[in-house]
Amino acid sequence: MSQTRLVIAIDGPSGSGKSSTAREVARRLSLGYLDTGAMYRAVTVAFLDSGVDPADTAAVIAATTGADIEISLDPDAHWVRVNGREVTAEIREPRTSANVSAVATIPECRADLVRRQRALMDSDPRGVVAEGRDVTTVVYPDADVRILLTASEVERLARRGSELAGQVSEADLRDQVLRRDADDSLLVNFTQAADGVHHLDTSELSFTHVVDVVLALVDEVRA
Ligand code: C5P
Repeated sequence: MSQTRLVIAIDGPSGSGKSSTAREVARRLSLGYLDTGAMYRAVTVAFLDSGVDPADTAAVIAATTGADIEISLDPDAHWVRVNGREVTAEIREPRTSANVSAVATIPECRADLVRRQRALMDSDPRGVVAEGRDVTTVVYPDADVRILLTASEVERLARRGSELAGQVSEADLRDQVLRRDADDSLLVNFTQAADGVHHLDTSELSFTHVVDVVLALVDEVRA
């Protein structure tokens, strides 16, 4: 492992705790933080804005490959811009969550975003904690530490439900978590850890405990 750079890859389904864990680990180790899902979401906002039909594969590919995506790697100041427009809040809206799998299930879109994600991860001299669905396996299989976080369906629905409190119906919540995970897993396996990837079921664990486990894995590779 490099003495100066550290790369940590964290994958998992919606509500597994990967975003808050990755952000906190980045803060604690003074590393960059990359939310790869935010890039899929930014492209989704761009294609919806330009009136592209999510079922029009060629148009979604063109919107993705043509999108200018800028994203903060600062865990304490997260922002995303697409085609020059700030979309930090919009990427979390139900409309975006409902359509993002249209991008994630097209191989050409994935290849384009994966290439950009690798470049972003290599751009931070301190190293980076990156989270998503395929960071441990496709984006950065050479990461120093690779972790898959999972949680039971009940727990994931409860966590997402409290994050979105009052903003979505029960049906929308199930769509955002269960239907989206089912669609997302068509091209990517993020429920079973690949060889060399540590698996942690967070269902019964506190946030602090999960962060401590990740930091302990980092200490192991640094020792
Ligand atoms: O992580 P988040 O839920 O914000 O990701 C939004 C969407 O982006 C996922 O539902 C999935 O469709 C896609 N995604 C992906 N691969 C990644 C990260 C996100 O397919 N590495």
